[in-house]
Amino acid sequence: MQQKVIGLIGGMSWESSAEYYRIINETVRARLGGLRSARCLLWSFDFGEIEALQQAGRWDEATAALIEAARRLERGGAEFVVICTNTMHRMADAVQAAIGLPLLHIADPTAERIRAAGIRRVGLLGTAFTMEQDFYKGRLAARYGLDVLVPEADDRAAVHRVIYEELVRGRVEPASREAYRAIIARLVERGAEAIILGCTEIMLLVRPEDSPVPLFDTTALHAEAAVDRALAGH
Ligand code: GLU
Repeated sequence: MQQKVIGLIGGMSWESSAEYYRIINETVRARLGGLRSARCLLWSFDFGEIEALQQAGRWDEATAALIEAARRLERGGAEFVVICTNTMHRMADAVQAAIGLPLLHIADPTAERIRAAGIRRVGLLGTAFTMEQDFYKGRLAARYGLDVLVPEADDRAAVHRVIYEELVRGRVEPASREAYRAIIARLVERGAEAIILGCTEIMLLVRPEDSPVPLFDTTALHAEAAVDRALAGH
């Protein structure tokens, strides 16, 4: 039986899509051995165009762009779709409704792992969109019963700024790692038992040793869940 073809909607940013591609292929090799690697397609956006839509709040156009990308992958032979960013799960339901393929939602493998660890109260780091709007926190609460804490306003602004001014531009700054460590510590003081790295570039900056509680990295968990699905039945 052949692996299912994974359809990746990436480029948001390509810095994290490269991590998806690496983790997916390493995971297939670890499971199947030898020269085995993933069967996948990648649609990679020009992130400058996507970021401009986000900043302007032109979410309808961003949704149309993601649907078009998903359809390209469907036409290309993908068997399920993975959106390689937390933020753009804002339109996950609309994308799912517009295509004939299943979409593997990034919050689901993350929340399942958190629940399996017996954790209920989690801190969430991500873009302002992910931390402040309901599409992500709401799914974690409604479907998984998680109690989601987000940083206070100044800390949210700092987390967001580092993502857009540094990480998506390939810059990993020690001073920003220190800032994130302090923000994580404040979430832990408020009762967070674990932290969700709810932006796919944060794993480039923050490592387990930067946190006194477990980190749940959405990039790795989503990529591994994609392999689970691609290899189901193997
Ligand atoms: N990759 C980021 C995320 O996971 C942010 C970039 C974007 O806005 O898509 O949310």
